[in-house]
Amino acid sequence: MKPSNVCLPQSEIPLLLSEDLPADEAAAAESHIAECESCRSVIESMIADSLWWDDA
Ligand SMILES: [Zn+2]
Repeated sequence: MKPSNVCLPQSEIPLLLSEDLPADEAAAAESHIAECESCRSVIESMIADSLWWDDA
């Protein structure tokens, strides 16, 4: 797994949150998010919107 300095595409974040990403991509995404405040705030606002979250 390689750490990524590239921010996650917004289209990928719902996949990550619903665990629809391949494990290696999810791990890379999570390690990026751990270091990236910008991605965390995007994710938090997506969760707040919760358009995709309703039927979880
Ligand atoms: Zn980022």
